[in-house]
Formats: sequence, structure tokens, C-alpha cells
Amino acid sequence: MTTIMDGKKLRDKILSGLKSEIQTFDKKPVLAVILAGDDAASRIYVNNKKKTAENLGIKSIVIEYPADVGENILLEKIEELNLDKEINAILVQLPLPAHIDKQKVIDTIAPIKDVDCFTIENSGRLYTGLEPYVYPCTPQGILYLLDEYKINLEGKHVVVIGRSNLVGKPAAQLALKRNATVTVCHSHTRNLSDITKTADVLISAVGEVLIEDDMMKDDCVVIDVGIFRDCNGKVRGDVNFETVSKKASYITPVPGGVGPMTIASLMVNTVKLYKEQNKRSS
Ligand code: NAP
Repeated sequence: MTTIMDGKKLRDKILSGLKSEIQTFDKKPVLAVILAGDDAASRIYVNNKKKTAENLGIKSIVIEYPADVGENILLEKIEELNLDKEINAILVQLPLPAHIDKQKVIDTIAPIKDVDCFTIENSGRLYTGLEPYVYPCTPQGILYLLDEYKINLEGKHVVVIGRSNLVGKPAAQLALKRNATVTVCHSHTRNLSDITKTADVLISAVGEVLIEDDMMKDDCVVIDVGIFRDCNGKVRGDVNFETVSKKASYITPVPGGVGPMTIASLMVNTVKLYKEQNKRSS
């Protein structure tokens, strides 16, 4: 029997615990989000994050810039937010306009306020086995789902498709930290299905329909990170849910799987940074 991993239900459970915790705080945690350009999807994501934050008692400040904003303006704003004791967490919504050096902007965020573990210092900590202040939101959300459904990664073969800094690489690293044997695949991987067929846990973060049921063994755990609109405007994941869900032991739907967990992680991370900063200043 296949279990559908319910990201919305788990998000609500995590956020309800977080809301109760926030009610005990003297001050509201504050999340600052920088949004540059006019990407429609980014605007929807940012609005959702703001709404979720405000519902919990986290103050959310969205700082918007036009698509032709100068890089220096963004860098100066981040420096200002770094120094502002009222701001606990900073998120730069990606993608940034093409003329902006994304990594330079991200690396300007003070590591203690880097809510997505994106700066070189925090990702360096992650990849060298040190503990960063928080884990990247989407991969952490995947761990929350695995934990909720009691899926232990130790000794398992975890195949991650995708090697972005946002999802694929940190997901692979977190699986390694849990003593999985990890294979990372990407667009140059040959004979992809020979590899995916050996996966106990398959994590796909690509952005196109790729995973069919003949690419996996029976009872595989399938985590679909991909989310995009197909040519008919329907929201899709990387996995052919209809066929794969008949073969998998556990599977995340799209929407309603990993997506809600990313938002939940962002809120958890904001609170973690708030607590870390309070600890340091007391
Ligand atoms: P990305 O930066 O575009 O990375 C995509 C990865 O897929 C790359 O590593 C690429 O390989 C690999 N790839 C592309 N075509 C492939 C193929 N045919 N076979 C194997 N690998 C292939 O994207 P991303 O930011 O990681 O996001 C991936 C997907 O997850 C997107 O749909 C995005 O919207 C979604 N996402 C969802 C959430 C959520 O909360 N649910 C969060 C973040 C992202 P190369 O490195 O060789 O190019």
C-alpha cells in the first residue's frame, strides 16, 4: 500500500507548535524579504511567506525593488538589515535580475541572519560537517517529512536528481549526514534509470516530468521537489504521480508535499535565528 506524504498536514502541525512558542516571546521575530524584479511566481511566493509569517506572530517586511535596481542598492540594504537589531532573518527571493551577482548579494547577508543557509560561510559549515545556524529550507522540509513518516535513511541508497545549491546539493548533504549512501544525478548523468532503479529513496529536484514507474524499484520512497506549470497551465512535479504512486511505498504529491514544508522550514528557521540572537545578546 502506498502512503501519500501529506505536506500540508505536517506544515499545519509544525506551525501550530511554532505559533504557541512565539506567543511566549517578549518581542515578535522579524523576517525581512528582499524582492527584486517582476517575476510573477516570486511575488506569489513572497506574499504566501508574508501571510504565513503574520499568522504566526512573525513580523514580515518585504522590501521591493524594480528589475533594473543597481547591485549596490541591494548590497547597501542588506548591510543596513545586518546592523538592524530588530531584524532576525533575511531572505533574498530568487531569481534576482540577470545583471545582479547573486552570490555576492547572498554573501552580504550576515551568517547569523541567513535564514536559508545560503551564504558561503553557512554552506561551508554544512559541507564540512559543522552545524550551520539553520539548514536550507527545502532540504530541511524533506527531512521533516521523512521523520514524520519514520523513514530512516541510515544505510539506504538515496538518489538525488538535481545538483543546485538551493535543493539538490544540500539535500544530498543532509542525507549523507544521516548515514545514507548518496548518489547525485544531473543533466549529464548517463543511464539515469539504471541508477534510479537502485534507489531506496528517490529525491527529484529538476523541474520537468522525468520520473516514470519503470525507473524505480518496488516500494521506493519518492520525494518530488519539482514544481512547475505544464503546457496546459497545470501545476506539476517531476514525477508521473499516477503511475509512480502505484509502485512507491511513500510519495509526496505536487502540490501539497514538499512545497508547504519549505514554508514551514522558513518559519522554523526564523525563530531559530531569533533565539540564537537573543541568546547572544543576553
Ligand atoms: P535548477 O537550479 O534548475 O536545477 C535543476 C537540476 O536538475 C540541475 O542540477 C540540472 O542538472 C538537473 N537536470 C535538468 N534536467 C535533467 C535531466 N533531464 N536529468 C537529470 N537531471 C536534470 O532548479 P532548482 O532550483 O534546484 O529547483 C528544481 C525544481 O524544484 C524546480 O521545479 C523548482 O521550482 C522546484 N523547487 C521546489 C521547491 C519547493 O518548495 N517545492 C523549492 C525549491 C525548488 P545540471 O546541473 O547538469 O544543469
